[in-house]
Amino acid sequence: NILVEQTDPELWAAILAENARQEQHIELIASENYASPAVMAAQGTQLTNKYAEGYPGKRYYGGCEYVDVAERLAIDRIKQIFGAEAANVQAHSGAQANEAVFLAFLKPGDTIMGMSLAEGGHLTHGMALNMSGKWFNVVSYGLNEREEIDYDAMERKAHESKPKLIIAGASAYSLAIDFARFAKVAKDVGAIFMVDMAHYAGLIAAGIYPNPVPHADVVTSTTHKSLRGPRGGVILMRAQHEKAINSAIFPGLQGGPLMHVIAAKAVAFKEALMPEFKTYQQQVLTNASIVAETLVSRGLRIVSGRTESHLMLVDLRAKGITGKEAEAVLGSAHMTINKNAIPNDPEKPMVTSGVRIGTPAMTTRGFKDEEARATAHLIADVLDNPRDAANIEAVRAKVNVLTRRFPVYG
Ligand code: PLP
Repeated sequence: NILVEQTDPELWAAILAENARQEQHIELIASENYASPAVMAAQGTQLTNKYAEGYPGKRYYGGCEYVDVAERLAIDRIKQIFGAEAANVQAHSGAQANEAVFLAFLKPGDTIMGMSLAEGGHLTHGMALNMSGKWFNVVSYGLNEREEIDYDAMERKAHESKPKLIIAGASAYSLAIDFARFAKVAKDVGAIFMVDMAHYAGLIAAGIYPNPVPHADVVTSTTHKSLRGPRGGVILMRAQHEKAINSAIFPGLQGGPLMHVIAAKAVAFKEALMPEFKTYQQQVLTNASIVAETLVSRGLRIVSGRTESHLMLVDLRAKGITGKEAEAVLGSAHMTINKNAIPNDPEKPMVTSGVRIGTPAMTTRGFKDEEARATAHLIADVLDNPRDAANIEAVRAKVNVLTRRFPVYG
């Protein structure tokens, strides 16, 4: 780090400020986490220098014998974690992993089915401005009156529209997803069944959220959310799809893989195979339940009524505050959060009536039941009196005491 400081003091100042922000704020963004020092160290190695187009043992460049070892370790470990027949660890991101599946199985104009962004899906599952929405005919499913996935409507729409690909998975859905039900519908209509488990991957690795791998043709994920690895993507698949998916990633979509990131993925997957990872994920789940229950006790509504995962959507309307304002005032109190539309949100997407809260990051820094409960009360304290500067300052002081007690990187 001294080298970055000497070479580029201007950049170093920004890095230091970001480090301080990560230490001082309670991170509540459900898609974020703190990668381990070992994961970060692997990314800072000489593997960043290596071109390795192709796959282990079949490269288009010489000198790949050692990066082959790194990639094979990552592949073997992630297959072991999720019980997958085959894996591709080269996707640069979650979005690119999803695009690779589309490239492998679809042609422009084909029909796909995914969960609507407005009801919890991801933008790569068919949102109008995303490539998935521009190049394909999208049929979306959403939630029923109980704010649970409307499986009956999904099934009916699938039979009506005969999609070529059905996507299960979400970015803002707190409940367990019935992957077996999706798989049956996909089989009945002859669709490829893809699961995007990006949000839930860490919980699934620990065996405390349903594993989609036995049910799906292909499973995509990010590696940096609950799985707590470096930023990146992965694809798990049945052996019969390996060739199509690998060709879609390279040469279909990407050039050289990021070998330093793949090395860091290997480290993260090794960490995910350790018993401590399961203990960690169980605490993530416990912390999420405690936060949800505490917020309800303070007069807030949780979308879908509860959480069965690491995240929840909070309906703020009872407090007379928008998601946009809540994000800003909670940020002033050193709690980082993202505004998020709730089902049938009356506000615009840049304003919203809700926030999404997740517990992977707070749990990584060591928050247990007591600290999770305290955090939820601090959130409610802000939301009860969001325009009172003294209140915000008082909450910020309490947050700072908590975060000092639980340093992330020390
Ligand atoms: N899939 C889901 C379900 C996500 O929530 C996200 C990111 O938020 C992605 C894919 C995209 O991942 P990335 O940001 O790495 O492209």
